[in-house]
Parts: sequence; structure tokens; C-alpha cells
Amino acid sequence: MELDIIREVDPFIAETIEKELKRQQNTIELIASENFTSKAVMAACGTVLTNKYAEGKPHKRFYNGCGNIDLIEELAQKRACELFGMDHANVQPHSGAQANMAVFLYALKPGDTVLSMDLSNGGHLSHGSPVNFSGMYFNIISYGVNEQGEIDYDEVQKLALEHKPKLVLAGASNYSKIIDFKRFKEIADSVGAYFMVDIAHIAGLIAGGVHPSPAPYADFVTTTTHKTLRGPRGGIIMCKEEHAMGIDKALFPGTQGGPLEHIIAAKAIALLEASKPEFKKYAEQIVKNAKALANGLMDETMDIIGGCTENHVMTLDLRKFNKTGKDIANVLEKVGITANKNTVPNDPQSPFVTSGVRLGTAAVTTRGFVEEDMTEVAKIIASAVFSSDNELGLANLRERSSKLCAKYPLY
Ligand SMILES: *Cc1c(COP(=O)(O)O)cnc(C)c1O
Repeated sequence: MELDIIREVDPFIAETIEKELKRQQNTIELIASENFTSKAVMAACGTVLTNKYAEGKPHKRFYNGCGNIDLIEELAQKRACELFGMDHANVQPHSGAQANMAVFLYALKPGDTVLSMDLSNGGHLSHGSPVNFSGMYFNIISYGVNEQGEIDYDEVQKLALEHKPKLVLAGASNYSKIIDFKRFKEIADSVGAYFMVDIAHIAGLIAGGVHPSPAPYADFVTTTTHKTLRGPRGGIIMCKEEHAMGIDKALFPGTQGGPLEHIIAAKAIALLEASKPEFKKYAEQIVKNAKALANGLMDETMDIIGGCTENHVMTLDLRKFNKTGKDIANVLEKVGITANKNTVPNDPQSPFVTSGVRLGTAAVTTRGFVEEDMTEVAKIIASAVFSSDNELGLANLRERSSKLCAKYPLY
């Protein structure tokens, strides 16, 4: 197989990839932004399409020999539009951040005001963090969440009237409630702003019909393809027809060079997979598993921000135990669970330490985990928090994680 081909040329890389495969197989993956693609998606990433330059768009390329590439990219565009109900799709963004950058470049001039969610309240770096280009070149006004982890829409409306943003941005990396796109659209309309939605985390849930779609309301919808959507690492921008030309230009030549056509082929496959009835079942199970995990943790006396989750993600709140997200994420790794530290609302700790851990169920659901497995995962997590300095206890928990992994073989 492909590893043997790599081994002949570069044994170290082959060996390390193999170790990574074993790590993924023997770890309970709760990082909310990760998933396991199908073998077909992965296979497409390793094809001859990586050899081709295809700057431009289908039938308007700067290079010759793009006939086959055009067919693939057009199909990916068509599938994205159909799946998400938008007029136009550009499937070339190399990542979610690149997709967002292109929308900013198209819709805004430097110094324009953007109303978006604060990073430490669940937003994303590319939504205006001071360390990202979006925060350096634009005037960012942020909204946050309340102690229940919910967006206060009246507050968003107030901020919009006060600051008159040119763009209102909804979407988050850590938000466990259903987003009210209609309300956001009304807020954007009240000040004549563009309305952009970044569905990076919830794209698979929208495709599977378990989260409302922003399509009826948004001017621009950006997404990653590798989170709940379960495709290759990459991004997509969708928009209303009136913005199509400008968005395409903002991506290329505005911010990117040649598209990754091997990845675009993999996106096309993932979009096809996401349109099937099995994917709807998958999305439903993600949400069921998230609820089971949240309830399991609360049964073990742990706190979840907001007391429940309505999608795939939740934040474990460690404040009452005086533990930090950083420490517990490291303890969880010792017991065979990967998750990331995350701030809680009004976190007393710095973003590098935090008082929370973000947990998501997209990846374990792909493996086949169901509710009863999530209850066991919740017990392992709670025991790990309570016995974080007991090496023997942690070793026993590691065994229990391995058992669960063995029950659901991966690849
Ligand atoms: C993950 C994420 C992105 C960025 O994706 P990359 O592919 O890592 O650039 C953008 N927006 C949101 C809301 C995300 O969660």
C-alpha cells in the first residue's frame, strides 16, 4: 500500500505516519474540530491531480490542459451549492481562514467595522483577533456570550446600532447552542450591513439537517471541509450570485495562487457523501452522542457551560474544582483522550491556561460510538479529573479507553 511506497524513499516519514495511524486508532478523539475522512476522500488527496496548475476558474484558466480539472471542480461547486442551497460556490480556499480572508477582502476596505464574536467567547482567530490580519486591518467590535454560554441577541443589536458595522459575522469555533440566523439577519439589515456566516464547525450538521441553514439569510457563507463535514482539510466560500464574481477575484488572485485540485476532488467526494441518507443518520448521532456525553458528565458532578448542548460541542467547566483546562487536557491525553483546553465565559485564567476543556463528538461518532459509549467516556473523563495525580488510576483509565477504541476499529 501507499506507506510501503513512501518507506522505499523515506523510511522515517513512513514510520512516523504509521505511528500516527496507530495513535488515531487507539485514542478517543474529542477535539471538536477533527474528524476521520472516508478512505475515498483520503485516496483522492494522494492522486495525480496534485501535479496540475489550474489558476483561475473552470473554463477560464491561466494554464492549458485543465479539461479534466474543470470537470472535477465544476462538480464540486455544483454539489456545494445543492447541499447548502446557495447560488454560488468557490471550492478553492486552502483553509477556512483563507475563505474568511477572501470575504473580508471583497466586502470591506481597511478600517471598516466588523461585528463578530470574541475569540475568548468562542469566536475564531480569523474573525478579528488582534493577532490575525482581520484584527489588524479592520475595526473589530465583538459580542460575547453570557454565563449560560448563549449569545445575547439584544446586546448584538445594541452594538450594531451603536457602531454601524459594514459586516455582521455569525459563526463560532466553540458555541453549543443553535444559532438564530434569522435574528442575525434582522440585525444586519437594521444597519444595512452585509451578513456573513462561518459554518466551519456546523457544516456537517447543516448538511445532515440537524441545524438550521443560514442560506435564506446570508450574503456569504464560509466553511471548512474537514470538521463535521468530514472532508479533506480545506475551505469553501458560498455566496449570493451578485457577489460571485467579486468573491472569486478576492480569492484568486486576491489572496491565493493555484488551487489544490487533488483536495478539490476530495471535497467533491465528501460533498457527495454528505448528501446521502447515511450522512443524515451520522449527523443525528453526533448530536445524540453530544447530549449523552454532556448528561454523562453532569451525572458525574461535572459542569457543562449552559447545562446542555444542542450541537456537537460543549465546554467542560473546571472552575468549581480549581483545575485548569491546560492541566486536564494533558491528563486526558494520558488516559487516551484528546481534547483541547478552552476558555469559559469570563475565564479567570489566561487563554494559555484556561478553566475549560472543549469536547466534541464528530470524530468518535464516525468511528461508531453510540450513547452508551459516551456514558463510559464521561466516566473516564470524570475519573481522570478526580484522580489526576494518581498514576495507577490513570493507567487503569487508559485501559478502559483502549477497550472502547478496540470496539470500533478505525481504517
Ligand atoms: C476552524 C475554523 C476556521 C478555520 O479553519 P482553518 O481551516 O483552520 O483555517 C474558521 N472559522 C471557524 C469558525 C472555525 O472553527
